[in-house]
Amino acid sequence: MTTTARPTTLAAVLAAHGTQCGCEGACGKPHKSRRCKATDKPLPLHAGPYPPRVTDAQNAAVPTADLRPWCGPCWRAALLRELEHRALLRRTELDQAQLALFTPAALAAG
Ligand SMILES: [Zn+2]
Ligand SMILES: [Zn+2]
Repeated sequence: MTTTARPTTLAAVLAAHGTQCGCEGACGKPHKSRRCKATDKPLPLHAGPYPPRVTDAQNAAVPTADLRPWCGPCWRAALLRELEHRALLRRTELDQAQLALFTPAALAAG
């Protein structure tokens, strides 16, 4: 699990957002009343940015005010979605960059 915050930070985040997972669906699962199921059966929570950033360094750089409580399953699922989204963007950018190599304009310029 990517835990970016120390216990004191977690305490501050729980005080600000309540002692429930603050996912609200970023994990890709619909949450009843926009709240995660961790409400019903308590799961250990940790503090993380919402939505998750793709690297540990980016997650660690997010200020405490922008953190939310996360349960483990929601965090992992939301992080995976973010990584997949980022990978898709990268592939699209790469495709477009490669297409430019084969446009007549690029051939004429080269
Ligand atoms: Zn969730
Ligand atoms: Zn959750």
